[in-house]
Order: sequence, then C-alpha cells, then structure tokens
Amino acid sequence: MTDCCSAPGLMPLHEGLEKLMTETPVVTETETVALADSLDRVISETIISPVNVPSHDNSAMDGYAVRFSDLAQDSILPLAGKSLAGHPYQGSMPAGHCIRIMTGASIPEGADTVIMQEQAEITGQGIAFSKLPSQSGNNVRRAGEDIPQGCQVFEKGHIIKAQDIGLLASLGIPEVPVIRRIKVALFSTGDELKLPGETLGQGNIYDSNRFAVSAMLKRLGAEVIDLGKLRDDRHEIRKAFLEADQQADAVVTSGGVSVGDVDFVKDILSEIGHTSFWRLAIKPGKPFAFGKLPNSVFFGLPGNPVSATVTFQQLAVPALQHMMGAEPAPAAELPATCLTPLKKQPGRLEFQRGILSTNEKGEAEVVTSGSQGSGILRSMSMANCYIILPASQGNVEAGETVRVQMFDKLLR
Ligand code: AMP
Ligand code: MG
Repeated sequence: MTDCCSAPGLMPLHEGLEKLMTETPVVTETETVALADSLDRVISETIISPVNVPSHDNSAMDGYAVRFSDLAQDSILPLAGKSLAGHPYQGSMPAGHCIRIMTGASIPEGADTVIMQEQAEITGQGIAFSKLPSQSGNNVRRAGEDIPQGCQVFEKGHIIKAQDIGLLASLGIPEVPVIRRIKVALFSTGDELKLPGETLGQGNIYDSNRFAVSAMLKRLGAEVIDLGKLRDDRHEIRKAFLEADQQADAVVTSGGVSVGDVDFVKDILSEIGHTSFWRLAIKPGKPFAFGKLPNSVFFGLPGNPVSATVTFQQLAVPALQHMMGAEPAPAAELPATCLTPLKKQPGRLEFQRGILSTNEKGEAEVVTSGSQGSGILRSMSMANCYIILPASQGNVEAGETVRVQMFDKLLR
C-alpha cells in the first residue's frame, strides 16, 4: 500500500517538503559577527585554517624528550634541562641527553620522541628508562596533525555549534562571516485565545502555539517578530498579513487554516498573495497552508497545538533552514523496541510522541509518552522522540520494532 493510495486526496509529506524547498528563496546577504556571538549562525563562506593546529611539535605526555637513536647506545641519559607548556627549552638538546618535558610543551630541537615519566627513574647518572619506545616519534603531537594550515575547516552553509566555536578559536579566528539572520513574523489566530496571565472566560483557552513556535524559532537562530494574536476577523487578519509582510522574510501563523466558518487565513492569503493549501497525509497535522505574500513566504500551521508543533518542525523548519542558507544534518533515526502497544489506523504517516531510553543491555527501547490527541501538549512535553509509523502501518503490538526520530535541538 503506498502513501497516496492509502490516503486518497492527501499529500505525502515528502511531496510537500519538495515543494517547500523549491519555492522558498534563499537569503544571501551576509554579515560578520564576533566569534563569541556566532552560535547557531550559518557560515557564508568556506573557512580555511590560517594556521597549523597544533602550531608546534609538542609532547602528548609528561615525561622526557629524547633522541630515539641515542637509546640504542644507552638507556640512561643525563638531563640537559626542561621544556614546559609556554616555556620551551632554549637551544638544541645536546646529543646523548634528555629533557624533562610536560604535556603540550614544545619538543626541543634535536629530540624526536617522548618517554612517559612512569617509564623513567631519576638516578645518579641521569634518567634511566625502564621501557624503551618502539619507534621514533612516540608521544609526539606533530605540528598540523590535527588541522594543517590551508585546509578547509567549514563549508558555506555549516551551522555553527558550540564545539565549532572552540575549533574556530583554536585557529585564532576572531570573527566569522555568516548569512544574516532571517526575520520571521509570527501570530496566532482565534477569538477564543487569551494570553497567559489573563483570566479565561467561557470558551476561552490560552494561546500556546505562539509561545512554542517562538521558542523553536529562537533555537533555530531566527529573529522573531511576535505580532501577537489576531481575532477571527477578515479585516484584522488581512491588515496584519500586509504589515507582517513588510517586516519579515517569512510569516508564520497558527489556526484558521481548516474548513471552519471563521477559517479566513487561506482566503486572505489568496487575495493578497498566492497560496497552496495542503491536506497532508500525516498525523497529527493534516491542514497546512503554504504561500507567498508580496515580499515573504507564508506558513499557516493548524491550530491544534501538537499539530502546530509537528508541522512547524517537520515542514516549516526545513524550509526556513533552506532560507537561512543552511545545510542541516538529517534528524537521527534509529530502530527501537516498542514496549507499549500503539493505536494506529493505516492511511497516514504518524508522528507519535514517545520516550526513548536504553536498557541495561544497551538496546534502544521506546514507550508512548501518553494520550496522542492532536491537542494534548502533555504527551508532547513528556516526549524526547517521535515514533514514526509509516502510512501503511496498523496497530503496533508491544515488543515490535519501530523507527524512532530523536528530537533535535528545537524540541530538546
Ligand atoms: P483552528 O485550526 O483555528 O480551527 O483551531 C483548531 C483547534 O486548535 C481549536 O481547538 C483551537 O481552539 C485550537 N487553537 C487554535 N489556535 C491555538 C493557539 N494559538 N493555542 C492553542 N490552541 C489553539
Ligand atoms: Mg481558529
């Protein structure tokens, strides 16, 4: 059974993603930021190492620097001096001698090998080595062996992680060329919505989508323009769309994309831009609108909170990363034994929420994180992964193997 046959009229996820990728423009403007401010930014040009790392031949151990060939004559060598990290031995090591050396200290000229101090003893005649090295070069870290000068370190499109900042610092690079941040305008729609802190009246609920999506956008490294919540009012929504379009590269809304009486989002989008409204073959998150306003692209998320999060993360995020000029690594997926039975009807690809762990044998196991309704945020909040159930799949029995997608940094 294929996706399309099993869910007639619904668009498979991969098809939606392909359309988003081809229709979302890529931001090309660049800027330079201080290294310390470059976390999560997207590198805009290839970074070449200006130096060798390490910059000099140095010791990997605390011990003694020797000339390997001297050990053929004698395994006791007189001490000629010391080399400490930041304080190298001055001059050239005299033949037939050794030098006290610490980890990270420069290998003195004339020496080629380090013997660790556990294999050496101080005697009246000099340093006696109990175990001789098997070859020249032992315990020596060569200049450039980690990163040679002139080698390519990062490609354009790389998203800078914390450890990359450390690496760039180790190359002595103080600033990084990056793509400018994308600006994303965000609002939620619905007459029922109240702000946390306000009192709920009859039929009201709190606006949660805007807070969750805003947090994910921040993790993504976007500049969020939070335009608040809109009433289900054609005039108000239209005005807000036009204003958002003036300020942002992308506009994200939640709610109002279904077929209800006050679901105006897609009508207005069609009036002032153009829209493709999709019914996706995924659960949660069937309705999804993608479109173009005069200056920006538009993502209309469904109102149900779990659907909003899942569609944002599975569809809007890859498109926004494409817009940011980024080449993100695909989300990690792995097989895991499902310890709880899962309800599933064949037809749509499902992103059920689960809790992944490893058992005492080191094997991956997953359980459902609770009730899977598209409005139930608790099971989303408890989860650390999606259990991905293909369209053709029916119920899952406890003990079956399922595929699991780890939450990435947006949801972790
Ligand atoms: P809609 O897509 O506008 O028909 O909304 C579908 C469901 O999601 C309804 O139960 C709404 O009350 C709910 N909903 C819509 N927007 C939000 C929001 N921003 N936060 C929480 N729930 C919402
Ligand atoms: Mg609504």
